[in-house]
Amino acid sequence: MLRVGLTGGIGSGKSTVSAQLAALGAVVVDADVVAREVVGPGTPGLAAIVERFGADVLGPDGTLDRPGLGRVVFGDPEALRDLEAITHPAIWARTAERVAAARPDAVVVHDMPLLVEKSMGSQYHLVVVVGSTEETRLRRLVDLRGMTEDDARARMAAQADDEARRAAADVWLDNEGTTDSLRASVLRLWHERLEPFELNVRHGIRSRLSHPTLAAPDPTWPAQAARLLGRVRQAVGPAAVTLHHIGSTAVPGLVAKDVVDLQVGVRALDDADAPAFVDAMAAAGFVRLPGEWHDNAKDGRTWPKRFLGSCDPGRVAHVHVREAGSPGWEWALVFRDWLRADGDERVAYAEMKTELAGRVATTGSYAEAKEPWFEAADVRARAWAEENGWRAPDSDVPPAG
Ligand code: ADP
Repeated sequence: MLRVGLTGGIGSGKSTVSAQLAALGAVVVDADVVAREVVGPGTPGLAAIVERFGADVLGPDGTLDRPGLGRVVFGDPEALRDLEAITHPAIWARTAERVAAARPDAVVVHDMPLLVEKSMGSQYHLVVVVGSTEETRLRRLVDLRGMTEDDARARMAAQADDEARRAAADVWLDNEGTTDSLRASVLRLWHERLEPFELNVRHGIRSRLSHPTLAAPDPTWPAQAARLLGRVRQAVGPAAVTLHHIGSTAVPGLVAKDVVDLQVGVRALDDADAPAFVDAMAAAGFVRLPGEWHDNAKDGRTWPKRFLGSCDPGRVAHVHVREAGSPGWEWALVFRDWLRADGDERVAYAEMKTELAGRVATTGSYAEAKEPWFEAADVRARAWAEENGWRAPDSDVPPAG
């Protein structure tokens, strides 16, 4: 099963996308529908609301007068808190029920207007945001939905801004063009990403680059890494004592293979071997690769680690699980910070990679061919760390409580 979060500002085209995904076979759980259902006639939710707010919030037909209740709680934080204490647990329970009822091979799409506002991105394998500019959304709401301009503006102002939405989006479905071009994007998303991602999660298949060539630096790599680290934290909780973005994609301006490397620190590697850890990561879309994995220390010794890969066909990512504070764990961070700090070394490293990439065809021999450079770099990086009083940096995403 794949869990997808779908969101977008009002008027962006989210409902249009949601309907198309449903037609393609997704199980859509509509948050607005769920929110209405849990206070529908005869529900414990409705009874609790009447008990707290009185029968005045009911319409003549005995159903909840939603606008009326809205006016009661508007500007009264305590009333709003009470209302949410009634509705939220019921909404969560019903949503979880819906998701659990879906078939094991389902692509479940949670159509959730407040996904960004409520920071829910880590709960999904993938967040899809439908994006349109404010002017376009305003025009649609006024022309097609019959809202007044003031009403449309007020609703848009109450929502997250585009910057926050972009930071949450694994996929940004631009909807500035025609409905036909939106349909084509959704179709591609379904066939090229959601379907294969679901299959990979269900069968424990990690995705790999089809062409492991060097890519120009992508300024969104760190934000992508942060989203993935959030999902790892959500999956394994306090077992992940540190969470870092490492490797070349963590060094702004550096060419790199388009693979996001993450480092998860654990107290002991046994923690990462526990079935609960392995299963939680697999369910979150990170499969553990079999076999013994280690890093090569300079003096011929090896540092053990565990190695996992993301199942997302649209975002190849590696998770290196190392003992927090161990030499291998520390080296990954020293190396990253050194390259971030020293522009000349960054250029030299990029040149070495580019030169090698031209010479060496397979990734395996590429990794081997890099070793001599790394041995020399090790000395310089450690000297830099010593001179600058380097200390292990905080996690890029704070670990769970
Ligand atoms: P949301 O659910 O994000 O509020 P909708 O999917 O209901 O947005 O879209 C808002 C309105 O704009 C609807 O009337 C819809 O048919 C229309 N719409 C959506 N996308 C486009 C588009 N690309 N071009 C023209 N109209 C569109």
